[in-house]
Amino acid sequence: MAENYAFQAEISQVLNILIHSLYKDREIFLRELISNASDALNRVRFEMLTNEDVLDKEAELEIHISVDEENKTIQISDTGIGMTAEEIVDGLGIIARSGARMFLDHIAQAEDPTISADIIGQFGVGFYSVFMVADRVEVLSRSYHPDAESVLWSSTGDEGYEIDVADKTNRGTDILIHLREDAHEFASVWRLQQIIKRHSDFVNFPIYIHKVGEEEEAEAQPINQQTAMWRRMPSGIEQEEHNKFYSSLTLDFEPPLLTLHTQADAPLQFYALFYVPHSPERNPLTPRQEPGIKLYARKILIDEYNTDLLPEYLWFLQGVVDSEDLPLNVSRETIQSNPLIAKLKSVITRRVLNEFQRVADDDPEQYAQIWQAYSGYLKHGVVSDYGNRDQLLSLLRFTTSQSDGALVTLQQVAENLAEGQDAIYYVVADDVESAAGSVHLDAFRARGIEVLYLTETIDGLLVPALGQYDGHPLVAVDAEELDLENVGQPAVESEKEAVDDATLGDLITYITAELGEQVRSVRASKVLSSSPARLVTPSDAMNRHQERLYRMLNKEIEEQPRILEINSHHPLIHNLAARLAAGLQDDLLKRSVRLLYEGAMLADGVHPRPSTMVEDVYSMIEAATQLIDN
Ligand code: ADP
Ligand code: MG
Repeated sequence: MAENYAFQAEISQVLNILIHSLYKDREIFLRELISNASDALNRVRFEMLTNEDVLDKEAELEIHISVDEENKTIQISDTGIGMTAEEIVDGLGIIARSGARMFLDHIAQAEDPTISADIIGQFGVGFYSVFMVADRVEVLSRSYHPDAESVLWSSTGDEGYEIDVADKTNRGTDILIHLREDAHEFASVWRLQQIIKRHSDFVNFPIYIHKVGEEEEAEAQPINQQTAMWRRMPSGIEQEEHNKFYSSLTLDFEPPLLTLHTQADAPLQFYALFYVPHSPERNPLTPRQEPGIKLYARKILIDEYNTDLLPEYLWFLQGVVDSEDLPLNVSRETIQSNPLIAKLKSVITRRVLNEFQRVADDDPEQYAQIWQAYSGYLKHGVVSDYGNRDQLLSLLRFTTSQSDGALVTLQQVAENLAEGQDAIYYVVADDVESAAGSVHLDAFRARGIEVLYLTETIDGLLVPALGQYDGHPLVAVDAEELDLENVGQPAVESEKEAVDDATLGDLITYITAELGEQVRSVRASKVLSSSPARLVTPSDAMNRHQERLYRMLNKEIEEQPRILEINSHHPLIHNLAARLAAGLQDDLLKRSVRLLYEGAMLADGVHPRPSTMVEDVYSMIEAATQLIDN
């Protein structure tokens, strides 16, 4: 007895769109069905490793397509895992993933109503794409469970579907497609061959095609090339082929920034094929959201998202690892504890880093693109992977106060030290522009000392992890004990005299009292030249980069009291000192001191509430622009 079921509301809508829309690539229905067949074959092969009770153990793992050019039907058969009645209802009647919803939203918002291959693939509405070409589809399936009954699912794609018992005796699934009037062109062996070549050439199982009414040749050859990309000679593969394979793997239609294909025989055998995606952001619509690469053991897919073979900082890579050395009985659960995995991981990681190094050396422009997208990841590597530290250090790039926007290595910075310079200096800022404009750089510029720009949050971890490079300690430009007296070219003497010691002492006492707990102390600067003041981090306080890290982790931290340094050569400081000496301890002086401090915070990009300065600023403008003193 056949039973009728209604489609989930969302599926009905998806189908309605697929049936009635404009499309440019309807041929991809075949890619989707072949990919399902290939998934089913992979899954049964995996079952056979671990499970005794599999129906038709001896059956060849193949995909057969037969075309009835006269009756306009196509049948796609596989000897895969099959489906029970329950599984067929789950698999073809319900969209478990949010794919359907997103597909509908996307269509609703799209300016171009044409449905293209990318869209179908992206939203995981794979099977339903068959209704772009079919007015009736019958799915006959028998599960690999020896005692499961076979089942027939059929639908015209509008109302719902029918389920009936059937008498298929062998394992697998046959999908019979009755082509719609406007899709008869697909009832052609030649046409289907062409489509398979284009979209499914590397499917891991042989695909045979056969015309109904003709004898099936005993010696027939599969029409697809099959050889897994990663098992081929790296030198024989065009980038174009890689790009195609990459997009079929990830549904990312931007070509990868880098292709990394490597193989080894001894002491460990493996094939590895990795791609660096053009961006670390995954398209939110692709099904491949989880990190991880595909792991094959002797051609059998063991794990779709394996994260044990690469350290976390390389999880941005997409691709495949296939090893003949992994025992076939490894399962997803036991992979981690397999000692071979640890060995593979270390060899593969080294290969990846070497390849990055090769690109960095041979093609700095290409490497700059990779760095642009993945600098945070590689810095994370320095922090977490001690074993590969040296290699990772040479992959780091920075812009500096002397690099004019170009990227330089730590090695280059270490080779460019000024006369008498021991430390490597860095400035922490939100971006390159603020770094370049930092008040702290005055003294460094004057003396010709190069300063690293640290503009990423992760730098807060990187600096303490590094500590030093090549024996040169890393020192912040706002460090308390900065002494540049004998470093680099001598700074040009300031034109203006310094405020005399006694008056300056009074001013410092006054400022200290005015600012109270907001500052640790106030002192005369030995390094400032063009700015009147700056904030210095006491050696026992939290660094700017640590602060930034904490803020990013959403930790509430108060601005730590810092040391306010004032420039005794600066006219502004002269004026304040003179006012104080003249006994003018008025509101204007108070506000000036407050603004001096807040200005220094503003310059460091750390003023907690810049808008509170406005009132003081206005009253100062008012005072400064007053025409007559009355
Ligand atoms: P996806 O392949 O992304 O899961 P599809 O719409 O292509 O989405 O397929 C839906 C589900 O139907 C599959 O996940 C699978 O469980 C089942 N299915 C489809 N085709 C087959 C097949 N040939 N053999 C076994 N199961 C299949
Ligand atoms: Mg599918």
